[in-house]
Amino acid sequence: MALKFYNTLTKRLEEFYTINPGEVRMYTCGPTVYDYAHIGNFRTYIFEDLLRRYLKYKGFRVVQVMNITDVDDKTIRRSREEGVSLKDYTSRYTEAFFEDIDTLRIERAEFYPHATEHIGDMVALIQKLIKNGYAYEVQGSWYYDVSKFKGYGKLSGVKLDELKPGARVSADEYTKEEVHDFALWKAYTPDDGGVFWETPLGKGRPGWHIECSAMSMRYLGNHFDIHTGGVDNIFPHHENEIAQSEAATGEKFVNFWLHSAYLIVEGEKMSKSKGNFYTLRDILKRGYDPVVVRYLLLSSHYRQQLNFTFSGLDAAKSSLFRIWDFIDNLGRIELDLPHNPEVDTIIETASSGFTTSLDDDLNISGALGALFNLVRRINRLISSGSLGRDDARLVLEKLSDFNRVLDIFPRENAPIEDWILEMIKKRDKARKNRDWETADRIRDELQKKGIMLQDTPKGTVWKKR
Ligand code: AMP
Ligand code: ZN
Repeated sequence: MALKFYNTLTKRLEEFYTINPGEVRMYTCGPTVYDYAHIGNFRTYIFEDLLRRYLKYKGFRVVQVMNITDVDDKTIRRSREEGVSLKDYTSRYTEAFFEDIDTLRIERAEFYPHATEHIGDMVALIQKLIKNGYAYEVQGSWYYDVSKFKGYGKLSGVKLDELKPGARVSADEYTKEEVHDFALWKAYTPDDGGVFWETPLGKGRPGWHIECSAMSMRYLGNHFDIHTGGVDNIFPHHENEIAQSEAATGEKFVNFWLHSAYLIVEGEKMSKSKGNFYTLRDILKRGYDPVVVRYLLLSSHYRQQLNFTFSGLDAAKSSLFRIWDFIDNLGRIELDLPHNPEVDTIIETASSGFTTSLDDDLNISGALGALFNLVRRINRLISSGSLGRDDARLVLEKLSDFNRVLDIFPRENAPIEDWILEMIKKRDKARKNRDWETADRIRDELQKKGIMLQDTPKGTVWKKR
């Protein structure tokens, strides 16, 4: 089956194609670095990680760009409230963002351009829009005249006839109810607290939407393959990006627009403004392994809303640990048996289930279903003593192949393992010295942290629970 994605632009499931053979150029709207990202944001970044990894798994070369919005209404307001420079303020949250994506095993994009380092590109783009007749000036600010762009509304479905002539919006964020001309360049005001650039357009700063048009085209060209974000980006952000880019270049901007549904809490979008959010750090403080959070965010389809609850997180943990236990058991198989042809069938079925599902607009439930089906069938062979060491290795190889896309398996030499090994060594020493009290204390301590020890003739082994 061919790879298909639901395209927000055409509003249907479409067979995927690329502009250059074998290469995917994609732009993913990145964080506004005014605070720690919440797990709603990470739901979108994990969807983009799955997309990226699956494209690579299918053999495409991927060039991904994710911007860092380090100047906009929010970053300026917050840095002023704290009385620190915009740069110092945004550097702190940019650093936190990279730490968090590493913690969640989100693969790094090829480029992370910062908005403040591309002001020249934004100015040049606005100048093109002025030249082409799409922009006008009011008191030193430049606005985009949406009535001039005939395709306005093609992504989000907003209607141009709802436009109130001459109505303008200066704020970066607004709703569908306000289909207005929007700011490309904002003239400096004292509220900007010293944040400005002196440019041919005047003294001021860019609007948020022009940032993504300028940075995407700088790294990926006027016309590229995929653009993604959360559904809240469709209007006005992505609608405005299309209007800006296509009016400036006269070319089609992007072929495939993919958007992830919200992570919600009690029926409402998780967001900073509602205060109903958890950062990744909030959750890790409660003792969850980050890969459990990854698994939860990964395991529901990106176009379905995901209702966040701690019981949901616990359920994700049990499913994930079922896979970890399975890997652990496979690694311990010592039976010397001839090859069992049933293993080939099981692996082939799982393999085709995995790719057929992901080909279908990243149907992750189907892909995980294929994986769990393999677990069940192989477990049956293990219990009946008909899985040998070499076959166990074949199964492990298939699992690592799936893990290139999922990245949810235990990692060797993870810091936690070093720490556990240290404790086990201490306990072994205590046992040798017949200091049972210390040995038992260490065992209990580990158990409280979810680490179960088992003393085998080959030494102590451990499992995470
Ligand atoms: P921001 O930093 O607000 O620009 O958001 C960064 C990314 O997170 C954007 O792609 C948003 O669409 C996405 N996002 C924000 N809130 C949520 C949410 N509750 N669920 C899923 N994605 C979200
Ligand atoms: Zn953007």
